[in-house]
Amino acid sequence: MNVLAIDIGGTKIAAAAVNSDGRILARHEVLLAAAGSPDRALTTIIEAILARVPADELQGVGIGSAGPLDVARGAVSPINIPAWRDHLLVDAVAALLPDRPVRLAGDAQCMALGEWWRGAALDRRSETLLGIVVSTGVGGGWVLDGVPYLGCTGNAGHIGHIAVDLDGDRCSCGSFGCVETIASGPSMTAWARRRGWNGSDARALALAAAEGHPIAVAAFGRAADALATAILTAAVLMDLDRVVIGGGVAAAGSVLFGPLGQAVADRNCLPYTRRLRIGPTTLGRDAGLLGAAALALAPSSPALVPHPPHPPHPQGASL
Ligand SMILES: [Zn+2]
Repeated sequence: MNVLAIDIGGTKIAAAAVNSDGRILARHEVLLAAAGSPDRALTTIIEAILARVPADELQGVGIGSAGPLDVARGAVSPINIPAWRDHLLVDAVAALLPDRPVRLAGDAQCMALGEWWRGAALDRRSETLLGIVVSTGVGGGWVLDGVPYLGCTGNAGHIGHIAVDLDGDRCSCGSFGCVETIASGPSMTAWARRRGWNGSDARALALAAAEGHPIAVAAFGRAADALATAILTAAVLMDLDRVVIGGGVAAAGSVLFGPLGQAVADRNCLPYTRRLRIGPTTLGRDAGLLGAAALALAPSSPALVPHPPHPPHPQGASL
């Protein structure tokens, strides 16, 4: 069985035909800036895949998209794709490839699912995995006991909006002191620049940290503290044993994972969370595509779609 996997990020759209063993049969990628419009980019990548794998050999479609999402309606509003606001993406893809199931999840949820299926957790299929993407924002996704968990509205895993500093800065979500206000690439860069570092972006900040620049090292240390606090919060709540971290900031490597490991070790005090293993993505840029494929390949399961809203409690019923 083969499926079409689509990964929609802030700057590009990627697609692949993937078989049930997780092998990528064909792959294509389009930069949104070069495509003219996101609709054109979507059509281009699907046509490119169909030129190599006939449509009648693709039994389903899985999509991982930057959010926000409305999974119940199949709509997306990626922050970096202003032309798509409440865009009915599932319907648009279904029109290009009719008569197949089309499933949608968040890009970070697909990264987690891809890592669980073909990556870091391959040796232990039943474990509870949290995937985190640290990039321009901080996102995440769950696989609980081997089943992707999308939540009531499809938004489970938004670890970037766990508050870790009660006196912290206002977050884009409206709250204060979220992980994202400290550990996202732009937040780290802005914090360092306010203290006299004069580089331009998170990639430059990572290079400076690797060279020992004290402000850059402190920015990564602070991000590591925020991530460690959020990860341990998740581990305490969910009896979690595996965390996989990807995204552009995580690509910095040891300047992030070194202080992160130390910060977790300093705080990890409960016996059942001590088995927690934290590491970088093992699939790199393929994690999202393979997760989208896993979403399409999984048997029809209520766990793969948002649970329907709970019926209202009858008047007077006790909770
Ligand atoms: Zn927030």
